[in-house]
Amino acid sequence: MSLNTLLITVGDELLSGRTVNTNAAYIGKRLSAIGAPVCESLVIGDDRLQIVTAVHRGLTGFDVAVITGGLGPTHDDITVEAVAAALGVELERADSVYAAIEARYLHLDRAMPAGVEKMALIPHGARVLTNNWGTAPGLHIQAGHRHLFVLPGVPAEMQGILDASVLPALSDLPGRVVVHTRALATSGIYESKLSELLSDLIPGPDDPVKMAFLPNYSGVELRLITRSDRDRLNRLAEEIIERIGDSYLGEAHGEGLVARVSGLLCERRETLVTAESCTGGLIGKLLTDRPGASAFYLGGVVAYSNGLKEQLLGVPHAVLVSHGAVSRETALALAAGARERFGATYALSVTGIAGPEGGAPDKPVGLIYLGLAAPEGTSYRRMQLSTHREQNRPRSAYAALNYLRRHMEGPF
Ligand code: ATP
Ligand code: MG
Repeated sequence: MSLNTLLITVGDELLSGRTVNTNAAYIGKRLSAIGAPVCESLVIGDDRLQIVTAVHRGLTGFDVAVITGGLGPTHDDITVEAVAAALGVELERADSVYAAIEARYLHLDRAMPAGVEKMALIPHGARVLTNNWGTAPGLHIQAGHRHLFVLPGVPAEMQGILDASVLPALSDLPGRVVVHTRALATSGIYESKLSELLSDLIPGPDDPVKMAFLPNYSGVELRLITRSDRDRLNRLAEEIIERIGDSYLGEAHGEGLVARVSGLLCERRETLVTAESCTGGLIGKLLTDRPGASAFYLGGVVAYSNGLKEQLLGVPHAVLVSHGAVSRETALALAAGARERFGATYALSVTGIAGPEGGAPDKPVGLIYLGLAAPEGTSYRRMQLSTHREQNRPRSAYAALNYLRRHMEGPF
């Protein structure tokens, strides 16, 4: 048994899809990590009756209910009032909150607009959770052994109050069962192949460990989860790691491949440049998303046209004319040209037909060439991907990074 939680996210914009419900993802992750997992998630509009009904459900069928959104000063922010109605209590002014709001406006040197003082009204009996990231405070209401938390919708404010006040309060409650997980990142191996490779290791329905395959563009992440048998979880993880061999990247934190390549280059004090055509700079973006990339990434050229491939990277005109821009020869010349001109240890190149148009019988959409220029020589890889541009570009970028990783880790 563990604590069970109802999550209620409020906002018309969440229903219409104008705002992606990132709060639900954040809260789901955080609460499952501390053993109070979200068992049901309700997304409702800015509607008094819907909010009252949802809060009733939370306070009758769950140990914990968390509601976010609609705490602000405008007419459509009705969550606090509806929560008070659901509890059958009056709203009253919290002087400490009022003083904090007043001080905030004084500090900003702005007059307090009408409506703002509404944010100092809280249901009788509620405990204020300080909002150091904005104006509307969070609230904690205890009804018997059940707990209701009311949080603002603005993600930074919600996250701040959740981490600073809600998680510590939940951590004090009895009945939590902590979930143990291991996330194993792989690259360069398809989900179906991986499943075949691990077929005899995949836990059955009665196993205390559950396993999930979570594919993304950089590869497949294997997620192992258990509530009871941590030793079995760890033994299984080790068996899997051994079986996967060099497709295993490490414990994933969402971006295992980029972290691994960056780490290898840093450790060896080597440098990288990129020459990208169909990926339009995506490899450079992925590398520079992480802080500290300047230690090894010199930069890159997005050479989309043949003209720039020739002028900036020295691809011979004759190569482009006789083999075309999407060819083994061009991929090799792009990488060799970038490495030589920019003086890096390695150069990666990508040229291909991302689609949906531009294919020909001998060069179909999804045909991609990767080039690698290294101190040991130049090499290439040919890949045939799908007809979907939005998939082909990230897959090519990650495949190029994985190509470099394999080169750096393996025997040349
Ligand atoms: P405010 O004081 O800004 O009015 P609020 O508590 O009333 O805060 P909302 O009005 O519901 O919150 O939303 C404020 C902002 O936060 C909006 O830009 C909204 O799109 C965003 N937001 C609200 N709920 C979510 C959510 N579940 N996931 C991601 N963003 C959200
Ligand atoms: Mg609002």
